Amino acid sequence: MEIDAAGNPAIKGPAAVPKPARLAHLRIDPRGYPIIATVGQGSDEVDFGSLSEKRKLVLATFDLCAVCALPFGDEPRWQVSFHEDRLKLRTWVSNEAPVHEVCGLYAAQVCPFVSSPYARLGDEFRKGQRRPDVVVLAGFKQTKRVFGRRSGLQGSEFVLHFETTDLVRSHSLHDGTEARQAYEELLQNDPPVPPDVEERELADLICNLTAEENEDSGGVMAGAAWFAGAAFCPGVRNVQGMERYAKNAFYTQIAQRVLTEPGFAQEFMGSDDPSTRAAMKWLTTRSSLPDTLKSWRSSALNRLGREHEPASGSGKTSDQRKTKRKAQTATRRKNRR
Ligand SMILES: [Zn+2]
Repeated sequence: MEIDAAGNPAIKGPAAVPKPARLAHLRIDPRGYPIIATVGQGSDEVDFGSLSEKRKLVLATFDLCAVCALPFGDEPRWQVSFHEDRLKLRTWVSNEAPVHEVCGLYAAQVCPFVSSPYARLGDEFRKGQRRPDVVVLAGFKQTKRVFGRRSGLQGSEFVLHFETTDLVRSHSLHDGTEARQAYEELLQNDPPVPPDVEERELADLICNLTAEENEDSGGVMAGAAWFAGAAFCPGVRNVQGMERYAKNAFYTQIAQRVLTEPGFAQEFMGSDDPSTRAAMKWLTTRSSLPDTLKSWRSSALNRLGREHEPASGSGKTSDQRKTKRKAQTATRRKNRR
């Protein structure tokens, strides 16, 4: 890591580093930094050091990169550490959502505040407590599990954890030159994987403020993710910020209907909420769901057993119609202050 005359890490401004094509859709903050998907973001300011659990839940559900909000597909999922020893482990558990390789290397290049591991790095530098010798980026084949549990960092708070397994490759970056070389090499050979229409729509919703209220879209998107199956993520009910979905039985009832009633997700696309519409469209058009969501859903199906089998006959009860109408307006209402 390069250090400037004042003893601070030498950080390149965003204008000095070419941006990967896949980050083109991110909003830019007043200083020129791309606003990454995993941080809370209002209309005035963005705190790059603060992760949003709601946004992490959205990223986990739809299997998206924490920087660009585009899908991983077959690409490895990258995590960051400051300890090279961790590379001996095939499985990592992190409270950060993983990123694409190019997104991680770009973040390392541009600014310690762009991704939260670097934000912490920045804090440590500023406080003069620790100066890591190495920044390790590790790419894993899959995200095996996502679950809520108490955070070691924040004492009693529950946060989402991502378990990535099967280390594919890694970068150990000992200084700015190594970081730059790794990034530049990759940038020349970073095949863009174009998202499909539904994936693009999700990314645009996550990376922009809500159209009507001009607010952080993390809340409405987390509600939509809950319907799509995040309701069944182990430990999610205790995760900070999830009270609104966990305590209102309606959200989970809808999630159960989406899970168990054939055609319900399709009907639910008539929602007046753009996030819910996009989530249902995505859900009903996947040839296969991401592993994490698949495992949440299959455990829930096992639990629910036959109790939530589709209602017999084609007629809907008035209760079912009522639930649907209520569902279609709920995510909008809840986002208003
Ligand atoms: Zn990315």
